[in-house]
Amino acid sequence: MLHEDLKKWFGFESFKPGQEEIINNVLNNVDTLGILPTGSGKSLCYQLPTYIKQKTTLVISPLISLMDDQVMQLKLQGEKNVCCIHSGMDENEKQQNINCLKQSKFIFLSPEFILQSYNFKLIKDLTIGMIVLDEAHCLSEWGYDFRPHYALIGKIVNHFQEATVLALTATAPSYLTFDLEQILNKSFSVIKNSMNRDNISLTHKNFADDDEKLKWLLPTLEQSGPTIIYVSSKKMCLSLAQSIYNYGFLTGIYHGDLSYQERHTVQHQFINNEIPIIVATSAFGMGINKKDIRTIIHFHLSTSPSSYMQEIGRAGRDGKQSQAISLYQPDDSYLLETLLFTDIINIEDVNAYELSQFLPPEKSDILDVLRTQYTFAQLRNIFDMAYKRKKTGYIRMLGYKNIDQCRRSYLIEFFDESLVEKPELCCDNDCELKLINIINRKKVKRKMDFNEKIQNLFKK
Ligand code: ADP
Ligand code: MG
Repeated sequence: MLHEDLKKWFGFESFKPGQEEIINNVLNNVDTLGILPTGSGKSLCYQLPTYIKQKTTLVISPLISLMDDQVMQLKLQGEKNVCCIHSGMDENEKQQNINCLKQSKFIFLSPEFILQSYNFKLIKDLTIGMIVLDEAHCLSEWGYDFRPHYALIGKIVNHFQEATVLALTATAPSYLTFDLEQILNKSFSVIKNSMNRDNISLTHKNFADDDEKLKWLLPTLEQSGPTIIYVSSKKMCLSLAQSIYNYGFLTGIYHGDLSYQERHTVQHQFINNEIPIIVATSAFGMGINKKDIRTIIHFHLSTSPSSYMQEIGRAGRDGKQSQAISLYQPDDSYLLETLLFTDIINIEDVNAYELSQFLPPEKSDILDVLRTQYTFAQLRNIFDMAYKRKKTGYIRMLGYKNIDQCRRSYLIEFFDESLVEKPELCCDNDCELKLINIINRKKVKRKMDFNEKIQNLFKK
């Protein structure tokens, strides 16, 4: 029966692992957390039940690019009743989308948008059959860069009593279920597939300094196919992209301070293979639906196994062999610790906030939002716990550079998983790995025709 629906609405012959269980849950109105690896078809887990139930689905999504991508996919599938409102739109576009809210089958909004009371009024009387929390791990990312509105979406979810909640993510730390249940005040049935991605080989390399890293990196990029290089800072993003450009490759940068338009452009150039390499901070990746990314290089280590799995999971969505390579030099740990712990909100910050003492605006803004729902005691607990979680993740990731055991096992054991079967190309500690060999085009110097050359000669 469900197979017929799948065929009818999507033309697929069979479900991918995990999809059927999740969809059955949702159809039986069971609130569900679905943890399936990147590229395993999570969107279909809410799209098919929407068609079967013929009720509106509200998708709460953390990123504009992610919303745009999903809207585009749905439209390509022939769905017209889709709407999406976000800050990257001009007023006109926003209004057009607001006008079609009522007849939409799929509504995409960000948590910040819905929680503004003016916006909430736009949707509060709609009949919503399902609420999807896409990239649900965002709920667990307490910290200075945390999106505090995620901690308040219980209000929205509880308003739509009839709606079934489906939380979806590719990487779930063990505490995600706990956080979800706390924030939404509901219990969840968890359907989880291994986070392991067999077609991504794992390599790690230690160097003496950044120059040594570069010496290895630049020639490696000649044949790494479509590549994302993750770095830990915006500054590094620029300087590394410059070195790569000077070496002869077209390359793009992506970080949190770019405008919507700039991000959009670079993302499209990468997706359409106009540039082979992108240098990015962790802001890049969620919702980038490029199937043939062959290489993910971490110029600096990720800050936790969760982010690492999330980031390398962007490779090989077409199922073909891909590689994840991380690099390290001794100064990096200082960089990472600064990144992770310097601006974190801690118990002292909450105390200061309680006493109305000065706090940097980045912190007080977050606490302003959270205070609408949490007591000071709760906030102290939350940020204490967040610190401990960050530390645990960081230490595990740091250990990755020294291990001589299987890297894959080391990573997934962090999520209480164990490896059932190792792929043939597992990791550099298990076997001899050859680098991928897909040539990246270099910049072409444009040839001028004779007339142009003459004209240039006389130009001042
Ligand atoms: P995720 O959100 O898990 O990263 P997506 O939902 O973007 O993955 O889906 C990845 C790709 O898999 C999409 O191109 C989608 O059309 C395809 N897909 C989903 N379900 C199936 C299926 N049952 N059979 C074949 N392809 C599928
Ligand atoms: Mg997805």
